[in-house]
Amino acid sequence: MKSIALVAHDGKKAEMLAWVRQHAVFFQQKTLYATGTTGRLLEEALQLPVHCLASGPLGGDQQIGALIAEQKIDWLIFFWDPLSSQPHDPDVKALIRLAVVWNIPVACNSATADFIVHSSLFSQNYQRTVPDFSAHQNRFDKI
Ligand code: PGA
Repeated sequence: MKSIALVAHDGKKAEMLAWVRQHAVFFQQKTLYATGTTGRLLEEALQLPVHCLASGPLGGDQQIGALIAEQKIDWLIFFWDPLSSQPHDPDVKALIRLAVVWNIPVACNSATADFIVHSSLFSQNYQRTVPDFSAHQNRFDKI
């Protein structure tokens, strides 16, 4: 689990920053991706390089979704705000959907993120199951 994507809605950015500061050591030697504003704040908080994509409402969530579909993200930390409506709500939903499609561990709150960070699977060379979608991809082969 080496590539981590992080996204925090505006109402959750302070919580995300507090959480990553608490786990700063964990993020060393990881490849980090984030939506634009979240990424800039994380770089400052962690003093680590972050691949900053577009801001979420401008396509950043979709860029992270594309990276998940390309098998380039191992884990998603997505602190979405359940108390605010988002202009890019379809993108938010799409990002969560792709994480589920590709069986990526997703933490949508700090408690879940705590459990993942402290998982013993990190020291066991865990290989997640990548779903086999060949039946879907080949569904028109016999026409
Ligand atoms: P931001 O985007 O990191 O650019 O604020 C996050 C989001 O709202 O999806």
